[in-house]
Amino acid sequence: MKKITSVCPYCGAGCKLKLVVDGNKIVRAEAAPGATNENQLCLKGYYGWDFLNDTRLLTPRLTQPMIRYEKGGKLQPVSWEEAIRYTAKRLAQIKAEHGPRAIMTTGSSRGTGNETNYVMQKFARAVINTNNVDCCARVCHGPSVAGLQATLGNGAMSNAISDIENSKCLLVFGYNCADSHPIVARRVLKAKQNGAKIIVCDPRKIETARIADQHLQLKNGSNMALVNAFGYVLLEEELYDKEYVARYTEGLEAYREAVKAYAPEAVAHLTGLSAQQIRQAMRTYAAAPSATIMWGMGVTQFGQAVDVVKGLASLALLTGNLGREHVGVGPVRGQNNVQGACDMGVLPDFFPGYQKVTDPQAREKFARAWGIDPAAMDNQTGVRITEVPHLALQGKVKAYYIMGEDPLQTEADLGLVREGFAALDFVVVQDIFMTKTAEVADVLLPATAWGEHGGVFTCADRGFQRFEKAVEPQYDVKRDWEIISLIASEMGYPMHYDSNQQIWDEMRELCPLFYGVTYEKMGDMGHVQWPCPTLDHPGTPYLYHDNRFATPSGKGQLFAAPWRAPAERPDSDYPLVLCTVREVGHYSCRSMTGNCAALQTLADEPGFVQMHPQDAEMLGVRDSQLVWVSSRRGRVISRAEVNERINPGAVYMTYQWWIGACNELTQDNLDPISGTPETKYCAVKVEAIADQ
Ligand code: SF4
Repeated sequence: MKKITSVCPYCGAGCKLKLVVDGNKIVRAEAAPGATNENQLCLKGYYGWDFLNDTRLLTPRLTQPMIRYEKGGKLQPVSWEEAIRYTAKRLAQIKAEHGPRAIMTTGSSRGTGNETNYVMQKFARAVINTNNVDCCARVCHGPSVAGLQATLGNGAMSNAISDIENSKCLLVFGYNCADSHPIVARRVLKAKQNGAKIIVCDPRKIETARIADQHLQLKNGSNMALVNAFGYVLLEEELYDKEYVARYTEGLEAYREAVKAYAPEAVAHLTGLSAQQIRQAMRTYAAAPSATIMWGMGVTQFGQAVDVVKGLASLALLTGNLGREHVGVGPVRGQNNVQGACDMGVLPDFFPGYQKVTDPQAREKFARAWGIDPAAMDNQTGVRITEVPHLALQGKVKAYYIMGEDPLQTEADLGLVREGFAALDFVVVQDIFMTKTAEVADVLLPATAWGEHGGVFTCADRGFQRFEKAVEPQYDVKRDWEIISLIASEMGYPMHYDSNQQIWDEMRELCPLFYGVTYEKMGDMGHVQWPCPTLDHPGTPYLYHDNRFATPSGKGQLFAAPWRAPAERPDSDYPLVLCTVREVGHYSCRSMTGNCAALQTLADEPGFVQMHPQDAEMLGVRDSQLVWVSSRRGRVISRAEVNERINPGAVYMTYQWWIGACNELTQDNLDPISGTPETKYCAVKVEAIADQ
């Protein structure tokens, strides 16, 4: 038996593990001493490799290329040569007839790695000549990227995951780390043991609330009102760091004006909190010698998410909690490599290394490196994933090349997404399993899975980590970047790579932020945080050293905005708020965890809808009873989980179940800046299904 070093393919905690391989079969996973996980794993790390054995518990592995030559026809197995030829021909036809912007592509934030994401965005930009490339960051932490770039200059966690436990105050806002990042939750526990004050802002009594000094059980949809009230208290009670604000920030007077209507007493009807609770929270936060704000989807999946991220960053600026150890802002990224997909330019507005596509000098640099005419480069921001259904229905997007994403399971308002897909001329899905999206593809391109290839991931704290190949693939599958390169070459742009490292080095040469992160350095150090601009640079455990921010003026930008109500409010027909959440045993669209025997035994379809006993009693619903959950967009079956930790008036569901897919119910009110949908808030009703 041999032990192969890898990095967990599930959440952004970036836990290192060893895959124990017997022959060509993985038999178990062991924890390894990584920078973020200290020899610990959660259950997904320990049991989440079983899908590589093609268990067929949820859905079969894609084992050979397939083509559906006619709409409504059947998928037929074909050779790789035919799959590449046909895909290249159809994409070239659509580009010629409708222009480059009629083609949409995605990278993948999952097990494929940074090298593949680099190659995919290069394919979009150099071969198709479009900036239409995006990833699932759009539906999770896109607002964190946009909000932090605007206020501080970098769209990422300011400090390290390992530093959380050293902070003396944690403000945990809309972030259920026990379910979404269990190993990060350990750091929160350790911070508590080290004497930190814990303030939790969440409508549910989540696990972290149990150890919190204060739990602010705010009303669903009131984030901006609460963050503004926090700012109001910092100013009114003069709790803010006047010298820091004067030296390192801009916009105080506009900020003061913006929050002046948000006295805690004045917004109690919005937040559901007493003024005393809000004031006490800010007294604790401001008094701490070091304080960290952590947030998750409870902040970002709203129609006003970017504003709230900017508001949270402003609290850190007002109190001087940036630019040193043990402080900062922490959007804890969801999928294992969603930070990496963004780093690699799988975004419609940035080249790799956060270089703007609208900057002529950046376009010139990338065009020269890629051997194309700079004039051929798209000079406009591209299409975002969440815009695709609308643009497809308008006839503006005709083809969709989807790699390692499952929008027909994971996007808001699935009825709308299905209509959009039906309007597309050509859908290519490159994946490892027959997902919901793969089922409607015109071409299926089967790829190697995590475990069958190596590469580099970026975890949530900007740390690059290498992972190694453990087993040979069993089927007629290829590496993602090899498939993309073959299509590019067939389309007349010769593209060939021999190794991950060759791709990585090409990327480094083009990205000052990452230039010093060599394969050798990652091998030696295990975890290298960007920025790392030179070969002898050790990486950056915390950003904004000396309080120099990466904004145009070098100063932090204070920001507040008026609260906006969620787009759809409960009424007499749909009296409850639906909020989508995570569960600890399964991940994302479940195509991987649903095919792992140990994880599959933990939970089964049709999932759960969590509700308060008071609501359950009013509706005549018992715990574990089957119920219908309906919104204006659809109806799904689910199983009631009646639980006092839920706030009355709201219900909570996870989105990965095939039966009971709660995205049939959600709505796509998009944040105007990030394009992220409001999956944390829509109006639903729950009806008991009578026992048979
Ligand atoms: Fe994997 Fe995240 Fe669990 Fe760590 S905390 S083992 S990265 S799922």
